[in-house]
Amino acid sequence: MIDLHTHTTESDGSLAPAALVRAAVEAGLEALGVTDHDTFSGYDLAVEPAREAGLDLVCGIELSTKYHFPGARRGKSVHMLGYFLSGKPPRAFRYWLYTIQRFRRERNGRLAARLRSLGFDIVLEEVEKLGRSLTGRPHFAQVMLAKGYVRSHQEAFDRYLGETGAAYVEREEPSLEAAVRKITETGGLASLAHPIRVEEDTGPDFDGLMVSLKDRGLRGIEVWHSDHAPADIERYRALAERLGLAVTGGSDFHGSLKPGVELGTGRGNLSVPRSVLDALRARAA
Ligand code: AMP
Ligand code: ZN
Ligand code: FE
Ligand code: FE
Repeated sequence: MIDLHTHTTESDGSLAPAALVRAAVEAGLEALGVTDHDTFSGYDLAVEPAREAGLDLVCGIELSTKYHFPGARRGKSVHMLGYFLSGKPPRAFRYWLYTIQRFRRERNGRLAARLRSLGFDIVLEEVEKLGRSLTGRPHFAQVMLAKGYVRSHQEAFDRYLGETGAAYVEREEPSLEAAVRKITETGGLASLAHPIRVEEDTGPDFDGLMVSLKDRGLRGIEVWHSDHAPADIERYRALAERLGLAVTGGSDFHGSLKPGVELGTGRGNLSVPRSVLDALRARAA
């Protein structure tokens, strides 16, 4: 069993990279993909511990991108996974990430100001202390919870931070097409993350979207994910076969920040076979 979709404390997971490697070894995983949001810091810090533990580590990333669904008034956030199977993310890709991180920091400043204007005592510095190399909305939720402004992480999103919340501010994100292009042209394999969430927006047009993304360089689809029912897994597997796309999969483990999702097994019945990674490597070679 392998897990190709996990997060560390370098984005919004609760386990530090070294602790995630230990947890993967304890869970008996044959390979671990680290796919933090918009940063390679978690992967970078996991390289040494994984080497020492003899764990097969896969370099990945999960990018937040914007996609304008036909007829929609504003762009929706779509997550794109990138896998760099030779192990080293290319420098050109890292530079591109710095621009994305700058947009995020700028958004965070506006979000903190918006929360203050709603009467909350929150400054950017205290939120950034939780976020290490990447501060996101989950960290704002953590601060709001700690200060007693909300009773749960989810309430923070529902009332303030979510797309329909009172403090929501937009962030500039690369388009879905630009993200696919960047991953592909720097030697990575782009795989659409948790397609179930995209399909909620496209409905029956989902297959058409996949065809057009494939024309633009998309090479994979995340077939196994904690939010996919067995029937979803079968449907995405069949679609991948029809379109000649690679298949990827993982739990989307965030530790205690996403309760109920375990490393490797997801919500209990996930199991991504080792052959998935072998096939990805064969494609990349
Ligand atoms: P950011 O990248 O900083 O905009 O934060 C995005 C992250 O916030 C996502 O990866 C989710 O973990 C979390 N998130 C976004 N919307 C919601 C929501 N409505 N409910 C709970 N968590 C959310
Ligand atoms: Zn996350
Ligand atoms: Fe995601
Ligand atoms: Fe994720």
